[in-house]
Amino acid sequence: MSESMSLRPRRRFWGWGNLTDELLPQEQATIDGIMQLLGGASSSPPPPQESDFTLAAPLLQPPASLAPCFSNSTYDRLAHSYGKSFADVVRMWNRSVPNPPDWVAFPQDEQGVADILDWAARENIAVVPFGGGSSVCGGVEPDVGLSYRGVVSLDLERLDRVLEVDRISRCARIQAGVLGPDLEAQLRPHGLTLRHFPQSFQFSSLGGWIVTRAGGHYATLYTHIDEFVQSVRMVTPQGMLETRRLPGSGAGPDPNRLVSGSEGVLGIVTEAWMRLQDRPTYRASAAVLFHTFDAASTCLRALAQSGLNPTNCRLLDSAEVAFAGVGDRSSPMIVLGFESADHALGPWMERALELVRDHGGQYDPQAVARSMQAAEADDAGEHRKGAAGEWRDAFIRMPYWRDPMTGRGAVLDTFETAITWDHFADFYAGVKREMQEVLRRVTGRAAAVSCRITHVYPDGPAPYFTYATLGTDKNDLASSLAVWREIKLASIDVVTRLGGTVTHHHAVGRDHRSGYERESSPLYRAALAAAKQSLDPRGILNPGVLIDPVDRVVGITGAVGPFPAA
Ligand SMILES: Cc1cc2nc3c(=O)[nH]c(=O)nc-3n(C[C@H](O)[C@H](O)[C@H](O)COP(=O)(O)OP(=O)(O)OC[C@H]3O[C@@H](n4cnc5c(N)ncnc54)[C@H](O)[C@@H]3O)c2cc1C
Repeated sequence: MSESMSLRPRRRFWGWGNLTDELLPQEQATIDGIMQLLGGASSSPPPPQESDFTLAAPLLQPPASLAPCFSNSTYDRLAHSYGKSFADVVRMWNRSVPNPPDWVAFPQDEQGVADILDWAARENIAVVPFGGGSSVCGGVEPDVGLSYRGVVSLDLERLDRVLEVDRISRCARIQAGVLGPDLEAQLRPHGLTLRHFPQSFQFSSLGGWIVTRAGGHYATLYTHIDEFVQSVRMVTPQGMLETRRLPGSGAGPDPNRLVSGSEGVLGIVTEAWMRLQDRPTYRASAAVLFHTFDAASTCLRALAQSGLNPTNCRLLDSAEVAFAGVGDRSSPMIVLGFESADHALGPWMERALELVRDHGGQYDPQAVARSMQAAEADDAGEHRKGAAGEWRDAFIRMPYWRDPMTGRGAVLDTFETAITWDHFADFYAGVKREMQEVLRRVTGRAAAVSCRITHVYPDGPAPYFTYATLGTDKNDLASSLAVWREIKLASIDVVTRLGGTVTHHHAVGRDHRSGYERESSPLYRAALAAAKQSLDPRGILNPGVLIDPVDRVVGITGAVGPFPAA
């Protein structure tokens, strides 16, 4: 076996973070407390090691011309076997990796990507594009069925540079494999920011964001990455698809929108011109508590429809504030924030607080005043002081808690959606009620389902639900996976049946296909499949994700198992 060819700091192939990352003592204490409440195991077994795995030998050899950028080291194959969903982590902790990629390719440049696709198309080899590998819906799993000679995970980590900055139009040409912190570090000397901060910012890439239509941390106006894509270059098995740099165009259906959300099934995005913003210098934030969730959500709608466009406008229900340990740990809370590189925000905040008061919201005026004073920004360009900052710190650290809890038998996951305001109240109550029943039925235990609204639009919110429970047997990770699977399928059913979308920003991947097939028109999916047929006629790109290639039996298993036929 060869050495790893990744040039990045070594990540945990079995969970979130770099190998050397540690839990903070207070986080360990919180995890112990939660595990005690859940009744899980009192300590975690050792996390997986490379030596725990014996992977099947690769089924194929790359040609000599491409071999220098191909790795079959155990670490590289393990690190590209799954994304970072609960099911991915639990399967790793269970030492279960039946479908590793035969090889991992690290092309140096765009030509390298094109050469690999040419070879793969000729040789009937499936190619799974890999950015940061933070997919939570089976998007990077090389589980492609038996109709291919083998499968290569194609990692874009070496395409990681900002190539050109157009200060006049405030845009930059950026390679797709760059991860969030590195991208922001390259833009900072220009005084610019992409200002797209998903919770997975540290370990997710520009290309991954574009093709999954990722949602950033900001709650209104620019929420999805789509808004920032000016033009893209995508290598397909049939050649280069490039869109034009324009601020807007009415010439036919927008080709950028065909690429956004394509999840690696139409081509591999190698670079994009992205719209940037000046780094914000004015900030204001408030944490607002409400007596009832109804009052808080009505206020949220008023804020969303006010035209004030707060950058942060996030509602946490009682269960969520308790879980995140923020606010007074029990009252529904809105985290409200404004930012600007251009103007002081007093009038905006003042009007927003008037709306808050109209709906019975309570806040600390002195904390709001303090938040408006100059504050240092962290790497993500964020204001970290006050309750809003406190909440954000907890939010960024949460993924680190999941791995040790998974090892101790916990089953914890999230599901996210969007719905119009007219249906929201019934939807929220219905999802919480039905999912609590599902959790009780599947595990035999009561468990809370918490909700935060991550993004708000004038016409509706994007609610994000979290649950934590225990598998049927705390020492058996296979039982955790079975429990998760049943809850996952139920959540897809409940959310789509009650009128929401199967995903607001986590994408479809493999795991959400049953919901996608329920909510999208068969005619639309046929049109998409025809587009795929034009760009990838042999169906080698990311089989099993989003839509099936025409005339190809993919027959994947994946984390949720076979999904119903369309
Ligand atoms: C802890 C955690 C928090 C998260 N928080 C958020 C959040 O706040 N907002 C959000 O939107 N998502 C979030 N996600 C989900 C995930 O981070 C996003 O889907 C992200 O956009 C994936 O980017 P990536 O580079 O890691 O892509 P990957 O996981 O590597 O790939 C995702 C999909 O895109 C394809 N792909 C990747 N790169 C390319 C490319 N260059 N060309 C073509 N196809 C490609 C892959 O084949 C796969 O189907 C979170 C995930 C985790 C684990």
